[in-house]
Amino acid sequence: MDSTAPISRLNLLFCVIAVDIVRLLPDSVANQIAAGEVIQRPASCLKELVENSLDAGATSVQVIVRDAGRTLLQVVDNGQGMSERDARMAFERHATSKIREAADLFSLHTMGFRGEALASICAVASVEVQTRREEDELGTLLEISGSNVVRQEPVQCAKGTNMRVKNLFFNVPARRRFLKSDQTEMRNLLNEFYRIVLVNPEVEFTLVSNDEVLWDLKKGSLKQRIEAVFGRSGRQPYSKQLIEIQSDTDVSRIYGYVSKPENANRNAQQFFFVNKRFMRHPYFHKAIMTAYQGLLHNDANPSYFIYFDIPPETIDVNIHPTKTEIKFADEQVIFPILLAAVREALGKFNIVPSLDFDTAGKVEMPLPHRSNTIPSTSDFIQHDPSYNPFHTKGTDWHTADKNWSDLYNPLRDIITQQERATPLLFESGDSSNTQSLPIQRTGGAPYQIGNKYIVLPTLQGLMIIDPHRAHALILYDLCLKRLKEHNGEVQQLLFPEIWDVGIEDEQLVESLEGYFRSLGYDITRLMRGSYTVSGVPAILGNQNALTGLQDILDNMRELGEAAQSERERCIAWTMAKNAAIPYGKTLTEEEMNDLISKLLSRSDYRLTPSGKVVAVLLNNEQISNLF
Ligand code: ADP
Ligand code: MG
Repeated sequence: MDSTAPISRLNLLFCVIAVDIVRLLPDSVANQIAAGEVIQRPASCLKELVENSLDAGATSVQVIVRDAGRTLLQVVDNGQGMSERDARMAFERHATSKIREAADLFSLHTMGFRGEALASICAVASVEVQTRREEDELGTLLEISGSNVVRQEPVQCAKGTNMRVKNLFFNVPARRRFLKSDQTEMRNLLNEFYRIVLVNPEVEFTLVSNDEVLWDLKKGSLKQRIEAVFGRSGRQPYSKQLIEIQSDTDVSRIYGYVSKPENANRNAQQFFFVNKRFMRHPYFHKAIMTAYQGLLHNDANPSYFIYFDIPPETIDVNIHPTKTEIKFADEQVIFPILLAAVREALGKFNIVPSLDFDTAGKVEMPLPHRSNTIPSTSDFIQHDPSYNPFHTKGTDWHTADKNWSDLYNPLRDIITQQERATPLLFESGDSSNTQSLPIQRTGGAPYQIGNKYIVLPTLQGLMIIDPHRAHALILYDLCLKRLKEHNGEVQQLLFPEIWDVGIEDEQLVESLEGYFRSLGYDITRLMRGSYTVSGVPAILGNQNALTGLQDILDNMRELGEAAQSERERCIAWTMAKNAAIPYGKTLTEEEMNDLISKLLSRSDYRLTPSGKVVAVLLNNEQISNLF
C-alpha cells in the first residue's frame, strides 16, 4: 500500500462528514432567521402591511391593533387584491410582483420589492388573509402559521385585501421578550403610521387601537394632512405656522413645509421623504439647520416636512430593509439647493431681513460668527510713529491687564525707538530695505511666560517675542505667496456654511472672489446677499470658517480704492491674523523653536505690517540701563 493511501481515505472521510454536516435549512427556519431582519417589532410589521396596501393601489386603508400589535395587527385595504394562486405565492420567500430582474432594482417606484415581508411575517406569527380581485366573484381565505398553510378556501369578501396578523413572535420567545412596554411599542407604531400617512394624503386612513379610534384621516392636500396629524394641540392653527418650500432643479424636485422660526420648539416634527419613502438624513438636516442660522432661540428646533422627488437611479434604498438612511449620489449638489430653498421660503415671509428687498440697505444684517475684534484698516494706511502698543485702547489684550503694561513701562522707549527706526511695510511696499539685526541663538531653550510671550536668550541680548504676531507674520508671507501664485490649499468643509454679506456688499464680494479663491476659499453665490462656503484655506485649521472672510470684507470696504499690491497686503495680513495661533495658547518647545527659526529667517522680524511689535531685543546696554 502506498503512503498516500491513508490520507486519501481521510479526505474521503472528511467529505462524507462534510456532506453530512452542511444541509439546507428548511424554509420555515430560513424564514424565521430572515424575519429577525425584516420584522423586529409590531411597527415594522405595520409598515410592511400598509406599504403592500399602497403598492396595491388602495385608496382607503384601515389599521386595527390590539395590545400595541402584539396580539393583533390587522390591515384592511381596497386595493387590487390577489388571485388564489398569487395569495399562495405571496408568502413564499422572494415572491414579489414588483421586480422581475436585477435592473429593476435601480428604478423602483413601489415601496416593497424584496418579496420578503409576507414570508417573514408568516414565519413568526399566525396570518389570516382574505383577498379578492375586482374580476373574481369569490375571494381566497388563507391561514398560515409558522410558515405552514393551515387552511385555504374560497370565501365571500370585499374587493381588496384583509390581513390579520395574530400573536406576533408566538414561536420566538426571545423576540417576544425583546419587545418593550405596550406604551413604547404603540409609540413606535404611531411613528410608523405618521411616516406613511404624511406621504399619502390622497389615501384615507383609520387607526383603531383596542377598539378606540385614534385616527380617522380623510383624503386631502398635503398641507391638510400635516395639519390633521400635528395641528390638534397648537394654539395657533398649524397651517399658519408653516411656510411652503419649493425648488425644481435638474437633480431633484424638493417641496414641503418648514415652520416659522418663532414656532420652533423643543419637540419639533422633522420629516424627510424621498420618493414617498421616509428617510433620515443627518447631512440634509444640517442644511436646514444652517438655513435657520441665527433665527432660533436656544433649544428650539424648527419643524419640517420635506419631500424629494428624485430619479430612483440616483439613490440607493437597498442598504437594509429596516434602515431609514438613504444614500444620494448628488448629496453635495442637493445640500446648497435645499439650503437655498429653505432660506428663500423664510425670506419671502420677511423672516430673514437680508432678503426683504424693499427695505434692503436700511437693514443691519445679522452676521453669524462675526468676530468681535474687527481690525481697523487704519492699520494699513496711516501710521502714527508715536504709537505705543502697550498703550493701545481697545480690544488688544495687552491693555486688558494694566499692571502688566505698567511693569513694562521702562521698556517703552526702547520699543518706540525700534518702531521709529523701521519704515512700515505698507508704506514702503518693499520690505527689502528694512533689515533687522541678525540674531545668533545661544543654544539656550526658549521659555513661554504665562502662556503669552516667548523669552529667548541670544548672543545679542534677551529677545521677547509675541507668538501670535510672530506666527501671523510668517503666515503673511505665505498668504502673499498664495495670492500671487493662486495656489491656496483648500480644506473642504463637511457641512458648508452660509455667509450672509448683505446685498450692499455683494459687488465687493464679487470683486474679491479671485483673491478668496487664491487663498483657498471655495465659495459660491447662493442667492442675493448670501454665499455658501464649502471650503476654506487649509492654513485656517479649525478656526471659524466665516470670521476670516468677513474680516477681509470689512477691511477691504474700508480700504476702498487702492493699488493691487496694497489690496493684496491688506488681504494677506487679515487672513494671516485670523489663521495665527491665538493668544493664550501654550506652546511646546518644538513649536517655539519652529516659530523662532521661521521668524528670524525673515529679513525683518520686528514689526507687523501694521507697525506693531513682534519681537523686542534688549541688548546688554539696554538691560544695564534698566537697573
Ligand atoms: P414585496 O412587497 O417586497 O413584493 P411582500 O412579501 O411584502 O413583498 O409581498 C409579496 C407580494 O404579495 C407582493 O409583491 C404583492 O404581489 C402581494 N401582496 C402583498 N400584500 C398585498 C396587498 N395588500 N394587496 C395586493 N397584493 C399584495
Ligand atoms: Mg411588501
